[in-house]
Amino acid sequence: MEYVEFFEELKKEDVDIAGGKGANLGELTQAGIPVPPGFVITSATYQKFMDETGITQKIMDILDALDVNNNKELQESAREIKKIIIETEIPDEISSLIIESYNALCHRIGKENAFVAVRSSATAEDLPEASFAGQQDTYLNVKGPEDMIKYVRKCWASLFGARAIFYREENNFDHSKVYIAVVVQEMVDAEKAGVMFTVHPSTGEEKILIEGAWGLGEAVVSGTVTPDTYWVDKATGEILRKQISEKNIMFQKKSENGQTVKVPVPEDLKNKQVLNEDEIAQLVELGKRIQEHYQFPQDTEWAIENGKIFMLQSRPVTTLDMGTASGEALHEGDRTVITKGLGASPGMAAGSVKIIKTTDELDKVQEGDILVTVMTTPDMVPAMKRANGIITDEGGVTCHAAIVSRELGIPCVVGTGDATSILPENSKVTLDGNKGIVWEGLLVETAKKEETTTAQPNVVLQAPLTVTEVKVNVSMSEAAKKAAATGADGVGLLRTEHMMLTTGVHPKKYIQEGNEAELVKVLVENILKVADTFYPKTVWYRTLDAPTDEFQSLDGGEDEPYEHNPMLGWRGIRRELDEPEILLAEFKAIKKLHEQGYTNIGIMLPLVQHPDELKEAKKIARQAGLKPQKNIEFGIMVETPAAALTIEDFIAEGIDFVSFGTNDLTQYTLAIDRNNENVADLYTESHPAVLKLIERVIIECNKAGVKTSICGQAGSMPAIVEKLVELGITSVSANTDAVATVRETVARVEQKLLLKAARKMMQE
Ligand code: PEP
Ligand code: MG
Repeated sequence: MEYVEFFEELKKEDVDIAGGKGANLGELTQAGIPVPPGFVITSATYQKFMDETGITQKIMDILDALDVNNNKELQESAREIKKIIIETEIPDEISSLIIESYNALCHRIGKENAFVAVRSSATAEDLPEASFAGQQDTYLNVKGPEDMIKYVRKCWASLFGARAIFYREENNFDHSKVYIAVVVQEMVDAEKAGVMFTVHPSTGEEKILIEGAWGLGEAVVSGTVTPDTYWVDKATGEILRKQISEKNIMFQKKSENGQTVKVPVPEDLKNKQVLNEDEIAQLVELGKRIQEHYQFPQDTEWAIENGKIFMLQSRPVTTLDMGTASGEALHEGDRTVITKGLGASPGMAAGSVKIIKTTDELDKVQEGDILVTVMTTPDMVPAMKRANGIITDEGGVTCHAAIVSRELGIPCVVGTGDATSILPENSKVTLDGNKGIVWEGLLVETAKKEETTTAQPNVVLQAPLTVTEVKVNVSMSEAAKKAAATGADGVGLLRTEHMMLTTGVHPKKYIQEGNEAELVKVLVENILKVADTFYPKTVWYRTLDAPTDEFQSLDGGEDEPYEHNPMLGWRGIRRELDEPEILLAEFKAIKKLHEQGYTNIGIMLPLVQHPDELKEAKKIARQAGLKPQKNIEFGIMVETPAAALTIEDFIAEGIDFVSFGTNDLTQYTLAIDRNNENVADLYTESHPAVLKLIERVIIECNKAGVKTSICGQAGSMPAIVEKLVELGITSVSANTDAVATVRETVARVEQKLLLKAARKMMQE
C-alpha cells in the first residue's frame, strides 16, 4: 500500500485508497486534462496513523458509550474525538513523508512554500447510497510544512463530525472501517473561474453551458454573484447565447496569507464579459474531452490563472433522466434545480411549500414556510411576513412581491412561470433570491431568524460622508426602523400603496361611505411612524399610485375596472385627479402632521406626464391648507418620457425636486411591461435611451436649481448610481438592502471627481 500517490498515478477505480475526489483528479490528470498538480495522502496513511498511535480503541470506546439520538452527547463526543486526532503526534515516518511530498510539489510548481488546498476525500464519498458529501472539510491556502501537518490532521478529524457519526450509526457503517484520504493540490489564484456543464443540464441537449465570474470560483459556486452565462453549440462551437451580468463581488487571495477575501469588482470589470471567445472555445474543447473520457455528460469547475485554464472538478450530471415534479430536473453543483425565475430579494431560504391560490388559504402559511403564489397582493403581506421565502409565477424585479419582500428582508424569486403548478404542496425547497433559483430539498437552516441575511450588508460601521445624499425607500411603515438603521439621509420615496392597503380596505370605500376622517386617520398613523423615525430628515411622501389590478382584492375593490394593461392605465396622478377626494384626504393627513411639527414631510406626485397635472394637484393641496413650495416641498416623479422631455415646462410651473422612477421610466421608454416575465430579459435601466432622458433632466434641473433624485430600482445599482453622481444628481434613494453599497459607490465617485478636478487645477 502506498502512503502518498501523485495524481499521475491514480485512476478513477482508486476510490478506496484516494477517496472519490482524489481518484477523480488522478483520472483527469492521466487523461491529459489540465488539473492543478497535486498528490493524495492515501487512506492507508490514515489507517497507519490510527493504528500506530493506538487511538482507534480510545475513539471506539467513546462511540460505544454514545447515544447518537442525544444531540448534546453527540456534539460532545464528536468534539472529544476530533480533539484526540488533532492533538495526537503523527509518527515521524508519516509526517516526513507528507512534508517530502509537499516539498516535491512545490518544486514542481516552481514556488517555495506554495499555497495548496488540503481537502478530505472520503472513500465512500461519491457512492450515492453512502453519500458523505459535505461532511468533510476543505482548507484553502495552506502553506508550509507545519500547516500541512496541521490541516491533514484536521481533515482526518473531519471523519468524526457529529453529522458523519450520526449518519454512520443510522446506516450501520462500522466507524473503524471507514477511512479517509487527503488531497493536496496547488491553489489556483484564479483571475476568473466558474462552472461548465457539457450538455444542457436540464434537457441533455448537445449544448454546453458555461458560467463565469471574476476571481476565485467560490463566487459562482456559492451563488454570491450572478455569473455571465454562455451557451455553446457543441457540434459547431458556435456561441448561441451570452448573458453578461453585473458582477459586483469577487473572491481573491490575499498575497500575504493566502486568505480568501471578498472584495468589490473594479468598476471597469463589473459589466465586462468575463470570458473571451478564445477562452470559451478552449473550455468547450476541454468539456468535450472530459465527457468523451467519462462517456457521460459532466458537471465541471474551471479556473483561469495567467491565461492558463485549469479544470478543478468533474462529476457526472446525475439527474438528467431523473425528472422531478416538473418532469424535468436540472443539476447544478450538488443540488437539483426545480425551477428558475428572477432573483427579486437577496438571501437563501428553505422551508415547506404552501401554494396560495386564494386569500382564504393564507392561514396555511405558518412561520418558516415558503409562500408560493401566482402574484402576491397587498392582503398577503401578513402571510408574507410569516414566510421564510416567497416564490411567484409572474412578475419582474419591481413587482409587488419583489418590493415587499425586499423591504421585509425575505428572500424572493419572481417570474418562475410555473412554480404554483410544479411545486408539490408541502414539499421541501430552498430558494436563492440572488440567482432566482429554486432547489429541491432543505439546503439552509429553516429556522426563521429575526433578521435575515439581507440585513447584514447594512451594518454600517463607518459610513463615509457623502455630499450627494443617500436616502432609502420605504413602502411599509413597520419597515421604517430597519430602513433608518442603515443611516440613510432621509426617505427618498415613501410609497403609499403597500402601507395603506395592508389595512385591507380600498381608500375609495372610506370616501363612498362618507368616512374621509377615517381615511385621514389611517394615513396619519402610517406616515407618522416613518416621519417620526426619520425626523428631522426629509421624507418624501408619494401620493397614491394605485394600479387597478393590484387593488381589486381589497374590500371595496370589487368594482375596480378591468384593464388590458393596468401599467398603462388608470393609476398615478391621472387617477387621483379623477378621484380627487382621495388625494385631498392624503394632503389633509400631511397637513395634520405638519401641524404636529413634522415639517420634514414633502410631497411627490407619481406618473405625471403634463404640467397641468402638477398644477391641478397643487390646487388640491391648497384646499387642504398646504402651500406648495412655500411651506412644503413639492416635487414630481420623472417616470414618463413625456415628463423627461418637457421637464423645462414642469420647472416653469414650479417644483422643488424631481425623482426618477426608473421602474416606470424604463418600461415606458423601452415598451417593456415591467411585470411581464416574458420580456424581462430585455428590461434594463442602463439602456442608453433611459440614460439620455435622465441626463437631460439632471442638466435642466441643475440649471434651474431644482433638486434631483432617484428612487427606482436603478438607484440601488452601483453602476448606474456612479453615472448619476457624475452627472450631478442631488440625492439617491436605495432599497434598504442596498444603502451601504450605494453609499460606498457615491463616496468613491465623489472622491474620484475631486481628484480629477484637483489634478486638472494643478496642470493649469
Ligand atoms: C418607479 O417607477 O421607479 C418607482 C419608484 O415607482 P413604483 O415602483 O412604485 O412604480
Ligand atoms: Mg413608478
